[in-house]
Amino acid sequence: MKKVLILEDEVNIRSFVVINLTRAGYVAIEAGTGQEALDRLRENPDIGVAILDIMLPDMDGFEVCRNIRAGNKKIGIIMLTARTQEMDKVTGLMTGADDYVTKPFSPAELTARIDALFRRVGGDSSANTEVLVQGPFVLNTRNHSMEKNGVRVRLTQVEYAILTLFMRNPGRALSREEILNAVWGPDFEGELKIVDVNIRRLRIKIEDNTAEPTYITTVWGFGYKWGA
Ligand code: CA
Repeated sequence: MKKVLILEDEVNIRSFVVINLTRAGYVAIEAGTGQEALDRLRENPDIGVAILDIMLPDMDGFEVCRNIRAGNKKIGIIMLTARTQEMDKVTGLMTGADDYVTKPFSPAELTARIDALFRRVGGDSSANTEVLVQGPFVLNTRNHSMEKNGVRVRLTQVEYAILTLFMRNPGRALSREEILNAVWGPDFEGELKIVDVNIRRLRIKIEDNTAEPTYITTVWGFGYKWGA
């Protein structure tokens, strides 16, 4: 199991990160102060990635970062920066961080950064995570999650499969047969209508206005297309 340390003194943000890390298949280890983070790291030398908040009650995140780096060159470190100031990012990278995420961040964004770090650190053999970003949508193939404007959209397995097909083929008209084959498999004995039914449901979940869909558009007499 891949372990990720989350150092954040704000309990709400920390719990939010823990829930999403767990959902993405990681073991989350929590710390609320810099000292706690260093203790947890000593107890768990196999932590692969540490996420560090900067504003903490006992020391700042940069100091924690310097401390970790002094004894561990391999661990991946992501700083949580509250502001978008260049200064924070530069300081973070100077003290040994690998990456930074600006608050507020989406779970998909954070998970994607962690996945990337695990790949770079070399501790990941099952890394075929793909993050598809198009317009307001972020689709993560690792945990089968989809977000629109940073808000998670709950999809069924079939809806998720259709959306992945669309997002991998932006602007291309896909016939209903093609969608049926790709999603249900060539042996599926059902009717083409099932494609339309699922598209209708998907539109309700993702379109701004279902009466005038702009993301999944209809190609009359043929099928559907992702984007106008
Ligand atoms: Ca804080």
